[in-house]
Amino acid sequence: MILRLLLLSCVAMLAAIAEAHGVDEDVSTQSPANEQVRNRGAGKDHWWNQLPRPEWSAFERIDQDQDWFEVYRIADGVFAIYEPGQFEEVISFLITGEDRALLFDTGLGIGDMKRVVEQLTDLPIVVLNSHTHYDHIGGNYQFDTIFGRDTGYTRGRAAGSQPEAVAEFLKEGWVWKPLPEGFVVEDFRSRAFSISRFVDEGDAIDLGGRRLEILSTPGHAPDAICLLDRDNRLLLTGDSFYLAPLYTHLEGSDFLDYAKTAARLAGLAGDIDAALTSHNVPVVEPRYMTALGDAFGAIEDGTADDYVTADGLREYRFDGFSVIVDARGPAYDCAASRHEIEDLVCDNPALAALDRRLDEVYGRALAVLGDVADSTAATRHLKAEQRGWIKGRNECWKAADKVGCARTGYEQRIAGLQARYFLVEGREPVFFSCDDGSEIVATFIPTELPTVRLERGDTVEVGWQVPAASGAKFEADFGVSFWTRSDEAIVNWPQDTRISCKVRR
Ligand SMILES: [Zn+2]
Repeated sequence: MILRLLLLSCVAMLAAIAEAHGVDEDVSTQSPANEQVRNRGAGKDHWWNQLPRPEWSAFERIDQDQDWFEVYRIADGVFAIYEPGQFEEVISFLITGEDRALLFDTGLGIGDMKRVVEQLTDLPIVVLNSHTHYDHIGGNYQFDTIFGRDTGYTRGRAAGSQPEAVAEFLKEGWVWKPLPEGFVVEDFRSRAFSISRFVDEGDAIDLGGRRLEILSTPGHAPDAICLLDRDNRLLLTGDSFYLAPLYTHLEGSDFLDYAKTAARLAGLAGDIDAALTSHNVPVVEPRYMTALGDAFGAIEDGTADDYVTADGLREYRFDGFSVIVDARGPAYDCAASRHEIEDLVCDNPALAALDRRLDEVYGRALAVLGDVADSTAATRHLKAEQRGWIKGRNECWKAADKVGCARTGYEQRIAGLQARYFLVEGREPVFFSCDDGSEIVATFIPTELPTVRLERGDTVEVGWQVPAASGAKFEADFGVSFWTRSDEAIVNWPQDTRISCKVRR
């Protein structure tokens, strides 16, 4: 569904902007990226006039017998299977090894993907999807061996769709090539498929002489992955990057996850010679991975200032691509904001996303308290604590890095609530015996910012991880800290006392 919303939102967005500013829609101050957005949106009737995209001419075209597809050899053993006849211009990749081949996505489901693949290789085929948006899984049903993520989102997509879910792909103005012979428009839907093996972050697929590492890269979609072919210095990005508007705002998208993914991909720029992208053009230079990380970093720290806002969305423009984010703002009413930091959060979509996430986590914590014995008192206590936290966040106006201060505050508060109210499952508790005769039960919790829940007698503290030269160090409120290395811990609890503890065997 990737480029579909672009069309809807950008037409509306640009119309709204043109209206709001009273400018001519053809004003020529747009960046190249936005030019592309605008033309593709506004000029939908003739978007195909810009085809063929010149980038494809760098590659050898491979014969096969369906007009719907174009196939190119992108690198040794790597074919791009391109569907230029439909607005999404989706690209699937076939990667061959000595023993088997991996098909990274199966396209829109309009052409016969299995037939085109069989004309490219005799090897057994494994299908793996970059993510399960409908424009990437259309041909999955044709294949027997499908690897996939073990997520609820993936399972939902694997169940297939009603025709309405994908009908838009075929609407007037979306397709310029003739549909394949025998294709029945009324029957078009995403067909169910079954996943034969679950794969996850850290897994690798050995094709025989070619190894593909799976990176979990959520953000655009919850089950998004990238594939890293380290030996051949290739990164397949799926929809995490391409030269068009990147979507962080769809249902199932998550800006904060996407920002982490962007930083991670930026870190790979030096390990690759090319990034293979799943829409429009097949290959982009590694420097775009750096640019992607920089772009999200600039949005997060508030220094990205080339953007347009309309329709509840904000589009940040960068060189060659743009990033569309949810501009709904935080969970509180920005019109009632009375504070510099509250205004800052209102104007920063990354902080606003953190505020919405905190609001959701806080709501879940309150719900937990609804079931406890002294519910009223406990609820009153948590509400007072939350008001205190907001005051503390607003103290960030004094910080040199106001955005960083607020972000850290949010991350610690979210993780702290998740840990204290058991919203994220902890690992097995570890029992420490301490030299003051006390015992501490430490439960390490894999919250996004890792936390530890410390119980001693009938008191509980929650600490969040802070940088440490060795081991794992956690700090909690009121100067409490817990620093553990191998089976020992140095504990300050309360503040200014220092005890040593050892794991009890
Ligand atoms: Zn997508």
